[in-house]
Parts: sequence; C-alpha cells; structure tokens
Amino acid sequence: MPEGDVVWRTAQRLHRALAGRQLLACDLRWPSLATADPSGRRVLEVASAGKHLLTRLDAADGEPPLTLHSHLRMEGSWYVERTGSGGRGRRSASGVRAVLTTVEWTAVGHELGMLDLVPTSAEAGLVGHLGPDPLGPGWDAAEAERRLLAVPGRHVGEALLDQRVLAGVGTFYMAEACFLAGVSPWSAVQDLPRPAALVGLLHRLLHANKDRAGQITTGDLRRGRQNFVHARSGLPCLRCGGTVRVALVGPPPQERTAFYCPRCQPGPAPTDDGRPQQPLGAARRPRPDGARTPRRHTPVTWSGPR
Ligand SMILES: [Zn+2]
Repeated sequence: MPEGDVVWRTAQRLHRALAGRQLLACDLRWPSLATADPSGRRVLEVASAGKHLLTRLDAADGEPPLTLHSHLRMEGSWYVERTGSGGRGRRSASGVRAVLTTVEWTAVGHELGMLDLVPTSAEAGLVGHLGPDPLGPGWDAAEAERRLLAVPGRHVGEALLDQRVLAGVGTFYMAEACFLAGVSPWSAVQDLPRPAALVGLLHRLLHANKDRAGQITTGDLRRGRQNFVHARSGLPCLRCGGTVRVALVGPPPQERTAFYCPRCQPGPAPTDDGRPQQPLGAARRPRPDGARTPRRHTPVTWSGPR
C-alpha cells in the first residue's frame, strides 16, 4: 500500500499538472458520483493528508468550492498524460475511476480505493480524524507523541499504523522505524524508552524519501540493501546477521504484517514456531524445480508475550 511519501509525491505531481487550470471535462466512474460533474471549475490545488489526496476546486455558479477526495488503498494510482495523447498508459482501461482533463494535461485515477466529491468546507468529515502528518504543513510532533501514548498498553506497531496517531505511516515505515529504534513492534507504547525520538525518526524517514521514487532507510542504494527489515523475512539482518522474521500486529481483523529482527529488537514478540519464512513476494517467483509454492508467506500469530 502506498504510504505517506508516495501519496505526497502524487499530490505534488497532480498539483503541477492541474493547479490553476480549468477542468474541460471531469469523468468520475464511481457509483455514488454518477451524476456529479464539476467540469468548468478551476483546480485550486492538490494536497495530501496522510494517505488521502485532496483536489480542491473553486466555487462556480453560486455553488461552494468542492474537494475531490481520493485514496489509493492497495493498488490505486494517479498518473498524468498529455491531453489528447490517447491514454496509452500501461494500465487497464477498466480500472480507470476518474479522468480530469485540462487543455494541456489529463490526470487519470486508476483502481482508486475511495472517491468522494464534497464541499471543501466538509473535508474534515473525510480527513479530520487523521493524526499529525509528518509531511503536512501543520506537523505537530508533540501532538503525535501524545496520540502515540494515548493507550498505554497498546503495541507500538499497532499504534504507529493507526492513522489517527500519525497520518501516512504504513507497514514499511512502521517496521523500519521500530528496527532503527531497537524496539519490538509488540512492545507496549508505555514501555518505549524514547517515544519522542521514535516520532522524530518517522518524520525524518518520510522526509528523506519524499522526493525520490525509492524507499531507503539504510542510506545504501544497492538493490536488496535499501531497507533493514520490511519484506526481508528469512533473509539475514543487515546489522547483526540474524534472521529477519515476520508476524502479525494489531487486533483482528485488522492485523498487518510486521517485519522485525528478534536480535536487534529485543522485547515481546509473537510465539514463533521457527518455520522458515521467505521474503515478501518471493513465493511468486517460479521455483527452479517447478514445484508450486504458497502465494504468500504465512505469518505466525500473536499469542502473548514470551
Ligand atoms: Zn539484527
């Protein structure tokens, strides 16, 4: 799932293409928006709020300014092409959910997970619940720390993935920040030795990656060495050589995967049967012997502190 840095970059790209320009056409292929037509309005700006995208349109015909809200969820994307180029993108036409056309550029929303059109004054109903956004203009580290610690017994990994705590953090940045802080994702937030440092670390990681396509937490640009633990289950830890593992964090049915190094991140961890694990995505590659492999690794489940 795209995290805050990817969504921030998407907003920047859309803003450069659309801001200040009038929508010649606006095709929203979304059941609840079947009759909505904000064409003729001018795009004021495109901004991100955590993992949410807000395309703000000016007032028109006595109607208030509008915001087109979208969320990429798992597979969504926005791309920009020159108007009239015929949409020769690589993505399937059936996945197109929104087409915003200006004289020069056309923005296409593909496989979007959410799409809403609301008065701009009602944006809070869509994104008002979000915690401070490390990439947002109103970043408030103290408020993020307060929200992180609000439920003392909560697991650190679960709290960091809660968008009401920190908007834009997903499984990648949660895992990498916990590794860099030497904290188990299953530690209780009340046991964090330096919660402000963890918040500051996430702020730095997102900023470090917001202007580049890769997500790098090691400072090493070489393939396979760009990050410490995320998606590296079964591989040696780049710091200690121990084996990186993966398990679930968060309450059912909202569990998410948490990659971690048991040696570098001491503390509570799921009961682990020690079964071999593969890096995320490895099972999709054909095995040399032609045998079938499971589609995904099977994370072990949490069953209390050990
Ligand atoms: Zn390690």
